[in-house]
Amino acid sequence: MNNIRVDIRLRPIRFGFMVRPDDQEKILEIFRINTCLWGGIFNPIIPFFQDVPSWWERFGYHFEDAKQIINGYMDFFEPDFLVEAEKGIADGFGYDPNRVIQLTDILADPEKGSWDKHGLSVHDLYSELYKEEFRFESRRKHNIVHVEARDNIFDGFVAAHFGSFPVQEEFAYFEHNYKSVFDPKHITLDASTLQELYESRWTSALGMGCAKLRINHHHRQDFALFILDVEESKDLVDLWNLRAVSQNVVPIPLQWIEELSPFCKKFILDNYRLVRRDSGNVIYRATSMFSRSIPDNKIEEIYKNYLHVDKERANILQVWYPPIWRKSSEKVFSPKRPTLEADEKSVDIQIDEDNPEIRFDPLFPEFASEYGNKFRLANVIRLENWGNASQIATVFPWDYKNPSLPTFQIIRNLLLPTTEGFTIFPEYENFSEVWYLVDGTTAFNQWFNENQVSATLSDAGRATQQIIQTLGGIIGIHAIAHKGLIELLNKIANRPVTKTSRYQTFRKRIDCAITNEVAKKRIFEALVECKAVELGLELKCHKCGDWSWYPVNQLDYSLTCSLCLKPFNFPVTDPENNKRSRWAYRVIGPFALPDYARGGYAAALAIRFFASIVNEIDRAAVTWSPGQNLELPTGEKMETDFMLWYQRKQFLRTDHPTEMVFGEAKSFAKSAFKKDDVNKMQLLAKTFPGSILVFATMREVENLTRGEINRIKKLAEWGREYDRERQQSRAPVILLTHTELFATDRFRSVWRKKGEKYETLIKPGSVRSDNLRVLADLTQQLYLEMPPYNSVPIQQSHQQNQLPSTASTQDGS
Ligand SMILES: [Zn+2]
Repeated sequence: MNNIRVDIRLRPIRFGFMVRPDDQEKILEIFRINTCLWGGIFNPIIPFFQDVPSWWERFGYHFEDAKQIINGYMDFFEPDFLVEAEKGIADGFGYDPNRVIQLTDILADPEKGSWDKHGLSVHDLYSELYKEEFRFESRRKHNIVHVEARDNIFDGFVAAHFGSFPVQEEFAYFEHNYKSVFDPKHITLDASTLQELYESRWTSALGMGCAKLRINHHHRQDFALFILDVEESKDLVDLWNLRAVSQNVVPIPLQWIEELSPFCKKFILDNYRLVRRDSGNVIYRATSMFSRSIPDNKIEEIYKNYLHVDKERANILQVWYPPIWRKSSEKVFSPKRPTLEADEKSVDIQIDEDNPEIRFDPLFPEFASEYGNKFRLANVIRLENWGNASQIATVFPWDYKNPSLPTFQIIRNLLLPTTEGFTIFPEYENFSEVWYLVDGTTAFNQWFNENQVSATLSDAGRATQQIIQTLGGIIGIHAIAHKGLIELLNKIANRPVTKTSRYQTFRKRIDCAITNEVAKKRIFEALVECKAVELGLELKCHKCGDWSWYPVNQLDYSLTCSLCLKPFNFPVTDPENNKRSRWAYRVIGPFALPDYARGGYAAALAIRFFASIVNEIDRAAVTWSPGQNLELPTGEKMETDFMLWYQRKQFLRTDHPTEMVFGEAKSFAKSAFKKDDVNKMQLLAKTFPGSILVFATMREVENLTRGEINRIKKLAEWGREYDRERQQSRAPVILLTHTELFATDRFRSVWRKKGEKYETLIKPGSVRSDNLRVLADLTQQLYLEMPPYNSVPIQQSHQQNQLPSTASTQDGS
């Protein structure tokens, strides 16, 4: 029996609104729609353009093209649904057309019903808040405000910052309800009322739409004053998205900078703090961030006149907008998307290994009325398979856009594998989800099928699978991670006919093979218990004098000799005479296969490395498949030794996207990595761009030949080339040796103890070796004598990928 833990989190649907950044009218409409949606403030706005506009980056740098920027926004926010401000603008981004909707597909006209609308509006939320709280209490004390602009050039700003309601007749009920439930204070916005609001605590319609939601920002955030031109809709879009990422943004209209200058300066001084820590002092300060529409030549003057304070260290000016569309890098701090949570629960489900099936009830907000439109809210599901003995696939290729996997449900509803988990959109409250899980091999086969690749388990793959199964899953592989033991098992397996080893000899050999005293006994017992070896009696035939081996359950008074095939009697009168009988273990199943279980040991050890050796603080989860024979769409045939979907998990945060890993595993044979192997891996990388290629051998690196090193190195150099389209290197190559495959501790500790060369590479705390792209670089430097790889060759140094909120710096003094 095996347990699966299912973590379920309820959150609002995340809509991504796609709009041209200069479309003032549509952008205002988007703000208004979001004012009416539960959690609407966190729905990102994805700017759409054919060509990157000149204002996009200051100083004329262009790192990405228009499509990459738009895809970058999408990848960062992973929208559940895309909302087009103009029909057709989302075409060509590979996003499931069934989840592309229009601005008119969200809010419902009560006269017409809501069945074809999307999301959960604030209507039910307001009713609940009224019932619970606001009908009893004095509403004034909450300082709830309804803000309107004095001058209509501020309409967009008011809508983006405080929220405003749709003006259409059929949606008038939203504003009406807001006013009657909360009795908000009416504010006519100008510079002085804005300052008054900033100096008090207030809640506006946009904030009220986040009631019943917990927002987790996951990292410390400093304050930022965001100076923007309220007449520029692109600045309003930037404000909107900035606030969806960072909680401490205080927008300052350029139009009022003079009036608000004293407030801004006080704000900067008030938020300056120096905290002394053992590791150095940390400065907290408020950044002055300038929007993209404010020209370079004006910034300095504005900054000097209105924002600069006398305390020099409190001043921090930022003229660039945080590039949330850029692929994040671990070398510099990058923005993180907060997670939203209305409710959560975890259930432990016992599964039947042959029919792994889980059943759970999705979460619904208590305030939501029983019936409504089909897609009202989202549940994010995370699966944990502790021990992973049953090989159940819990990690799938990252694809929020248009996934073909996983296929857990019989009637396929939307199920998106994202960095949050599997996102679903449950329709009815009391309708259990039933998911039929699959093992890694099946999942990979399905995935290959979707990619027009035919795949069948290879003989070597079957051996790998059986080894891991017999040992009881990934954890069990630790038992065979000893060179001497594998050599012993192989030696027995290579013996003609009997494949046995006498009890005493077998124990003694294990003692010699494993140095750790405690491990010796445990491993010996584990091998016997999991039936890698089977106990039996060797008996000498009276007729031909040869020895035959009989398992315990086949012993009898009369036995048949396996050589001469004649019957002979059990030595009942002299059972302990070791000239006639002796206890012996026989290797069975995959362990009886010659040539290091047909390469199965090496593949199993390599899988173990990725599943439980390389990861550190945060877990990495894998779905693995042993070797398969593949036939590519081009008709080319090949065999892989193992495959993985590898995903780094982050505690309480969104995970990293899944990496696709192909592996070639070799035992101890000399010059084993041949030209064919290398070519085959290259072909896989061409077929599946961005894949990670692993060469794993049980040999020490010194025992690799020059030819092998050169071949792998050449492929690694090819793989290092930067793929502009995907914004990452083409195919990182990892070389694993004896040191990694037989590791008895975490990877970092193993390398630290291995010697100076290893230690220097792994020592810096910032080296994330569980990032396979970093690991590739490390093993290339060490084993292939390659120079360090600069993973972001074209986009560094000009700009830091920093959020204003983390502008705090370590200060040595
Ligand atoms: Zn015989």
